[in-house]
Order: sequence, then structure tokens, then C-alpha cells
Amino acid sequence: MKSDQYILLEDEFGAQNYKPLDVVIERGEGIWVWDVDGNKYMDCLSAYSAVNQGHCNPKIMGAMFEQAKKLTLTSRAFRNDQLGPLYKELCDLTNSHKVLPMNSGAEAVETAIKAVRKWGYQVKGVPENKAEIIVCRNNFHGRTITIISFSTDPISTTGFGPFTPGFKVVDFGDAAAFEAAINDNTVAFLVEPIQGEAGVIIPPDGYLKDIRRICDEKSIVLIFDEIQTGLGRTGALLAEEHEGVEADLTLIGKALSGGFYPVSAVLSNTEVLGVLKPGEHGSTFGGNPLACAVARAALKVLVEDNLIENAQRMGEYFMEGLRKIKNSKIKEVRGRGLLIGVEFHDNAGGARQYCEKLKEVGLLCKETHETIIRFAPPLVITKADINWALERIVPILSQ
Ligand SMILES: *Cc1c(COP(=O)(O)O)cnc(C)c1O
Repeated sequence: MKSDQYILLEDEFGAQNYKPLDVVIERGEGIWVWDVDGNKYMDCLSAYSAVNQGHCNPKIMGAMFEQAKKLTLTSRAFRNDQLGPLYKELCDLTNSHKVLPMNSGAEAVETAIKAVRKWGYQVKGVPENKAEIIVCRNNFHGRTITIISFSTDPISTTGFGPFTPGFKVVDFGDAAAFEAAINDNTVAFLVEPIQGEAGVIIPPDGYLKDIRRICDEKSIVLIFDEIQTGLGRTGALLAEEHEGVEADLTLIGKALSGGFYPVSAVLSNTEVLGVLKPGEHGSTFGGNPLACAVARAALKVLVEDNLIENAQRMGEYFMEGLRKIKNSKIKEVRGRGLLIGVEFHDNAGGARQYCEKLKEVGLLCKETHETIIRFAPPLVITKADINWALERIVPILSQ
């Protein structure tokens, strides 16, 4: 079948909750993907940073095959021989004490919300059902009802009420606004160290340090959602490292499986996760041996193949090239590591047209919020690959 026929099938029988570029991908390897018509593209989205280790990374694939032949799912009614080692490896790597494994990113966020509420009642002494969690304007934490209850994006919320109460919104990057929103019932602050979906929004220097200090002073659990920024993407294992701070709860997902399988986790530095007792939270697939084996391999690849340092070096090189583009329609080029945003002025006609043109010359990326293109290739990218990309991006973004 040709791509047109696959597109017809998707559009006729599928719910239309996405508006994908019309490219039907059938194969991937490293930074490259191929469509059903035989065209080759560089993937500059990496499935929203889930394939940091590159498409079909052979080491992760090997671990997945081996584990699939032995054991895939036990449920947590029994123990399995992959879960303990994954916990240990995750804790050693991230300097954490406790791990709670889930599947999707949204589930990790939901898990954190449940844990900090319970911590608020049991440890902080907040009156029952009064716990408040502070979040940021333009956040993205997932798509469940509770998570969209504190989204400020009307597309995410319109028509989906009634919403879950207990959240307060403040401006991202404004530590004073966060401090002012705190009251006796505040149990946690949930924030992305860099807002990814909002368009690669980097907070002012010192912000993460300031909110860390405020959380310590006011006895508030600091939760970093590193589902997109974590696991090497920004040139550090976790984006919090750029300011030398540690969250109390860190949420990871996406690249935790290198794109093979949904795996997420809540990492805990303090004893917040200790408030959850048997039966109070769970997931049939969370922590299953196949997921654990995949995650162990995915973490190993990040470290052993030096993908974190590569993201740092290649990110700088990529951004340097993008900053040389002369076009008054471009408002800003910004980023950290290989999480890069190019923002156009509001009157530039939108970012989608550039994404469509880049697709025609073999480079896949996606606009976010109308005016921003995010460039986030797999972290296995080389200098030669970036030169190849810039040869295509520069003329198109100069238009
Ligand atoms: C993608 C993402 C999520 C949600 O992850 P899903 O696996 O799609 O549920 C949550 N937070 C951030 C910052 C994300 O980028």
C-alpha cells in the first residue's frame, strides 16, 4: 500500500485527536526513519523525547527479546527478578532512595499527586481533603482528568469538566509568585524544570534553586516532572542538575524505555513514597519484568554510550548553527542540550508551514503552540548528521 491509503484508513476509522504530518513511517534506525514509499527522514522529534537512545536501539532490542522469551508479566502479586535490580540501578544513578514504577507518564504524575496528598495528611498534618498542590501556568503533565484539571490550555480542558479540585496555578519562572501562593494546606509544588510542550521555556537562572529553598523552608514537597527533560535530553541525566538541586520526587518516563514500551517511574529522595501502604496504589503492568529489563537496558545505553555528554556537545553545536539564520521572523533560538526551540514572531504565519517544508527535504519535526518548532533529535546524533540537518534547515528557515 502507498502512504495515501494508510492515511485514508487512519482518518476513516481512527479518532481524530491528533493532526499528524502526512508521513507514514514503517522503519527506524538511530536518528533515521523510512516511510512506506521508501523516503528517508531524519527524526528531529524523537517521539517527544521517548527515543533518546535512537530508534530500535540494538542493545535495548536485545534485552527486550531475551526477556520476552523468559517472562513478561507476573503482576505485583508476586516478585520478579528484574524489579529489584532496576530499583537499585535507578537509585544509584539518580541518588534516590525509593522507586515506584508505572507505565505512562500521566500515571507517574497521578501517583505523585496521590503520594503527596497522603504525605500532607499523615506527616504535615493538613486537615483531611484540604491539601493543595501548586502548579505552573502553561504546564504539561498529561491527559487524565485530574491532570487536565490544572492545565491552563483551553484545548486540553474545554468540554471535559467537572474537574478535580486542590490545585493552584502560578506563573512559571517566578519564585516570588510561588512563595506568595503557599498556605498551610500546601503540600507540594509540581513543575517542569524546563517547560517542554509550552515551547521549550527555560526559567531564569536561579529559579530551581529558589524554589528548592522555599520548599525546604515551608515544608513542601518539590516534584520535578522530568518526563521530557530527563534521561539525557538536556545534556544532563536530569535537568535539575543544571542548577545543582534535587527534587523530593522526580518523575521520569518516555526515554526510560528508549521508545520500546511504556515505562515510567516516581523517584523519591525523602520518605514521601513511604506513606503508601499495600493496596493503596498499584498497576497491573507497572514494574513488570519486560518493562524492567527494557528500562535497565535503556539506562545502561544512556550511560555507557555517553549519550548525555553527546547531547550537551551536539546541542551547543546545533544551536550555534540555528542562531546564524538571518530571518527577522525568528524571535528566538533557545534550548538546553538537544531540547531546542525556534520561536517565530506571531505575525510570521505560524511554524507548521516550516515543518511541512522540512518534511519535503527529509527532516521531521513538529510545531508546538503555533509559533514554535522544537528540534529534539535522538541523542545518538553526530556532528556530520547535524551538518546534514543544518544544510536543509537554514535555507528553509531563512524564508
Ligand atoms: C509527555 C509528558 C507527560 C505525559 O506522558 P504520557 O506518557 O504521554 O502520559 C507528562 N509530563 C511531561 C513533562 C511530558 O512531556
